[in-house]
Amino acid sequence: MDPVEKAREALRAYPLCDSCLGRLFASMGHGIENKERGRALKTVLHMRLIYEYRYGSDVVEDLRALARVHQPTRRYLRANGIAVEEASCYICGGIMEDVEKYSEGVMKALEGLEINTFQIGSNIPKEVLDREREVIARLGLETAESIKHEVNRRIGRLVGERLGKPADKERPDVVATVDLTTGEVKVVQNPLLLYTSYIKLSRSVSQGKLVPGARKTIEEIIDHVRERFGGTALVLHAAGREDVDVRMLGNGRPAIIEVKKPRRYSGDLSGLRAAELILAPLKPATRNDVRELKAKSKTNIKVYRALALSDKPLTAGDLEKLKELEGVVVVQRTPRRIKRLSPRAKRRRMVYNVVGRLITNRVLELFVRCQGGLYVKEFINGDEGRTTPSVAEALGAKLDVVELDVLEVE
Ligand SMILES: [Zn+2]
Repeated sequence: MDPVEKAREALRAYPLCDSCLGRLFASMGHGIENKERGRALKTVLHMRLIYEYRYGSDVVEDLRALARVHQPTRRYLRANGIAVEEASCYICGGIMEDVEKYSEGVMKALEGLEINTFQIGSNIPKEVLDREREVIARLGLETAESIKHEVNRRIGRLVGERLGKPADKERPDVVATVDLTTGEVKVVQNPLLLYTSYIKLSRSVSQGKLVPGARKTIEEIIDHVRERFGGTALVLHAAGREDVDVRMLGNGRPAIIEVKKPRRYSGDLSGLRAAELILAPLKPATRNDVRELKAKSKTNIKVYRALALSDKPLTAGDLEKLKELEGVVVVQRTPRRIKRLSPRAKRRRMVYNVVGRLITNRVLELFVRCQGGLYVKEFINGDEGRTTPSVAEALGAKLDVVELDVLEVE
């Protein structure tokens, strides 16, 4: 395709501004803005038509068509006694002339936010999009760029210059959407996601909501992180959960902190140390990391330590029976203490190792290495037959779990 001839055909059918003409040929050579490309096509077409006109071809109609949107051609025709009125662009009606002006509104909307990356979006009047589609279809062009793409790029370039950072489509902190009809700018702030892990030293801190027996929640203790970034709310996404009375020891449980609507997207990434909880240093994370963390928590191997009280004296010989539990699949009906799940649902989880040691003949310390998601208390006490096999079943004793700790999330 000869782009100059195609431009001639396009302008014969529609008056088009430099941007809208250039955009029809956007994929023919990168690094040139559509406005420049359109301007260049008009200049070359102007020269070609004048050449043909001088050599006697009847190109007056094409010259008239070009003159509607090209001042030098208008001047040339006027000098030859032909007056042509300037026409506004068929596709955009002139809005592409100075879309850069919307960067002002974007800058104002971003005021007070400390961001690292941004993305520009736009709402373009439907009629404009319809007319653009019509022109491209009629000319049978495959080299065009969408108007939305150009608008976003041009505003984004200017905003990027003023912020000193380029637009980022992959992981923007904020998305500023410009409405080209009203000039309004809407800013959507993505949450700040921070990878960490926590060690919980208390038996009265709950990971989720404030439940009976809990004095505080983890989110309350780590709320300081929200303040650091000036967010409106904080949510903890953890790889699995422990009950309020269960300590989380060892290297801690991997987690991602979500700070909603932060005023700042960078800041102090150090951890936290409180009486009840230790938070590891923070690292930027993505939405995908949250998904992976959640998915992994179902397959993670966990190591637990429990202290259980037996209703009858036990001997070292009894503990030999724990070997039977290694490598078994434990079937658990939902424990009654958990109300949110269907009581008839069955869960199957692997137990890899069970090691026991008697502290007194009635107090047993147990170490259980198992698949994530096993209800460990019930695996020990048997939950009145709802979990099988169980430690209580293997030992032929009633067991009461008095302490439980997570030692490791592998
Ligand atoms: Zn236009």
